[in-house]
Amino acid sequence: MTTEVSIVKSYSYYYDEVYESVRRSVGLLGGMERFIRKGDRVLLKPNLLSAKSPEKAITTHPAVVKAVGSLVREAGGIPSIGDSPAIGKWRHITRKTGMEEVAREIGAELVPFSESVRVKNDKSDIFKYLDIARVVQDADVVINLPKIKTHTQMFLTLSVKNLFGCVVGKRKAQWHMEAGADREYFARMLMEIYKAIMPSITIVDGIIGIEGNGPGEGGTPKEIGLILAGRDCVAIDVIICKILGVKKEDIYTTTAAIEMGIGETDIARIKILGEDIEEVRVKRFRSPAITDVEFGPRFLRRYIKDLFTSRPMENKAKCSLCRLCIEICPPQVIKVIDSKLSFNYDRCIRCYCCIEVCPEGAIEVKETFMSRLTRSKVS
Ligand code: SF4
Ligand code: SF4
Repeated sequence: MTTEVSIVKSYSYYYDEVYESVRRSVGLLGGMERFIRKGDRVLLKPNLLSAKSPEKAITTHPAVVKAVGSLVREAGGIPSIGDSPAIGKWRHITRKTGMEEVAREIGAELVPFSESVRVKNDKSDIFKYLDIARVVQDADVVINLPKIKTHTQMFLTLSVKNLFGCVVGKRKAQWHMEAGADREYFARMLMEIYKAIMPSITIVDGIIGIEGNGPGEGGTPKEIGLILAGRDCVAIDVIICKILGVKKEDIYTTTAAIEMGIGETDIARIKILGEDIEEVRVKRFRSPAITDVEFGPRFLRRYIKDLFTSRPMENKAKCSLCRLCIEICPPQVIKVIDSKLSFNYDRCIRCYCCIEVCPEGAIEVKETFMSRLTRSKVS
């Protein structure tokens, strides 16, 4: 079967416009009826990173979630909305991100991912089992609703990475610890999660994304003006890279997909429906400042790492000492000393969860001189 990805222009979050764009993007793939049957329990999985208002562009916009939920209703499905945010109270997050209102309007249940089920993953050499949220496993259909954002650890967070939210809270931190600073390993784990969930359709909120040091307050909103949809998350991510002018190999999950033979990574074999890619290319999209290198003889590695590897650093003027970064840090390497944050860089795994959760944008990626010089070559 040909892999298809639809691209539809959409310039604002006015609901009528968003609804039309989402309807068209799904319509190009055959309509919502192709993906769900009457009576199906349909879980919508937006990116609800943390309690941010929709204007910040950090979370999937409520207009997109509402449009998808409405199409699900029209097709006879029963929508619910769920995620496992990195930090914060579910109620507060759903209110702030606009999900509470959407849920009321489309008659959807809001379901926090709080309980896991262990899924056997025999075919993998490394990950013999995966812990996935029960709600995700119990749904008849999962609709993945990512947002286009840069990501200081994984370069971009797109369709595949959004499904990491289907891992319940604390287990996410354990995965980060297990992967350590090894992004390739982490990307393989993300691919295994994608394979285990296989959403029926992915609809991407690419109207306003995040560039720079995303995915949270450290990034900057960027107008992209698109809704994309498809079944194959890997193919969708390849297309988004092309639109943003990013090499597909720069995305760790896509490199893992190529190695693992999952999804379509050859752009020539992806059928584009709707807009021509060349017509919707984004100019001057700013990448995140990430560099992490592990090479050289063991006794020199620490020196090399200090020289080449970017690191998280507090911007004291912005920090409110709320301690959320301390709570989320998987190896627990952040402390408060004399009213300032102190990082133990020897044990820091550069997962940048601290940046993701900081409500003030008070943690920045500090690049070393050498990391700036080598960024384009090694990231
Ligand atoms: S850096 Fe951000 S998350 Fe950490 S204590 Fe300061 S404000 Fe809170
Ligand atoms: S300090 Fe930040 S980047 Fe380092 S391990 Fe902790 S959360 Fe991850």
